[in-house]
Amino acid sequence: MERKKKGLNTICTHTGEIKDDTYKGAISPLYMSTSYAFEDVDVKRYPRYFNTPNQEGLCKKIAALENTEAALIFGSGMAAISTALMAFLRAGDHIVLQNLLYGGTINLVTEEFEKYGISYSFTEGLHADDFEKLIRPNTKVIYIETPSNPLLTLTDISSIAALAKKHNLISMIDNTFASPVNQNPVDLGIDIVVHSATKYMGGHSDICAGAVAASSNHIEKIFALAKNLGGSLSDYTVWLLERSLKTMGIRVRAQNNNALLMAEFLEKHEDIDKVYYPGLTSHPDHELAVAQMKGFGGMLSFELREELDAALFQKSLQLIKSSMSLAGVESTVLTPAKASHSLLSAEERKKQGIADGLIRFSIGIEEIEDLIADIEQAIQKVRKMASAVAN
Ligand SMILES: *Cc1c(COP(=O)(O)O)cnc(C)c1O
Repeated sequence: MERKKKGLNTICTHTGEIKDDTYKGAISPLYMSTSYAFEDVDVKRYPRYFNTPNQEGLCKKIAALENTEAALIFGSGMAAISTALMAFLRAGDHIVLQNLLYGGTINLVTEEFEKYGISYSFTEGLHADDFEKLIRPNTKVIYIETPSNPLLTLTDISSIAALAKKHNLISMIDNTFASPVNQNPVDLGIDIVVHSATKYMGGHSDICAGAVAASSNHIEKIFALAKNLGGSLSDYTVWLLERSLKTMGIRVRAQNNNALLMAEFLEKHEDIDKVYYPGLTSHPDHELAVAQMKGFGGMLSFELREELDAALFQKSLQLIKSSMSLAGVESTVLTPAKASHSLLSAEERKKQGIADGLIRFSIGIEEIEDLIADIEQAIQKVRKMASAVAN
């Protein structure tokens, strides 16, 4: 009996693969051609038309992963996000956005939208009421991101999708942090899913790409703009991304497991004040996480006791690297106040609950015992320093 829908790792491994009929190779051949004869085919194939063989194959995989009819791949997450947003907004329109968003998305909206005559409102909170009260007669799109960066707060996806339907708006979500392994927003009623494939889809810190998944109807509208803006991804990187996605299921599930174990370890530790991870029962949105996520993800944040030097702690780590990006197979940390959120004012950071000593942790696939040992030895170092200062 054939199963109607394949399971996650089967989709990751096989969906959209190109059969190598000539040589019977095991993997999709890579077609780098930018020129295709069109005598026998209706479609004019061209990289910027998003329809080379490798692009089409990868789009099938991404659509299957997000349970949508169609998908498009872009040269970066921001190319995907900007094209998807602009496809549904024109001069005179208004958009309601969640307050806690990826910094690049906030910059896109606040630095670019005004000159196209598009107005916007950012919410004060994450509840559906916070969104509804901002809706105007000319509102066209609602945009959310969950879990958020760096405090891993959650937005109730179903309630936002229902709100958008009630007011006849397009709902859009940045699903990067969860990845399609842990969260499928279209199943909860969202119209359009965007990803920075630079993160969990790529997963090895060596690919910059973006993706949009939605109904064929919505993807057609986004494509109509995409071919004019020209943000397509090189076929070589498309091919690499296909390879990366084959292991996304096992990577992200390993990261889920490690992150939960790490969060539990940190929460019990006397030198750690706070841990932010949706998988902890102490997380304010834990029940919502259980309801809308299949796994709790590989991102967490924590604060050391105030007396301990967070910068020195970070420097003292030996295995875990300091790095700006996230979601690779290797564990990385950063201090949002000094890196990802350094452009915000101290006051705005305080308002968002981002302490100066907050450390954001992107968990990799290393053995958890080695990660814990690295954290422990770094804590011992800053502890010694703190008691030396106190004496
Ligand atoms: C990195 C990131 C983006 C932007 O993606 P790029 O590939 O860097 O353009 C968007 N959203 C989230 C949540 C991200 O982490």
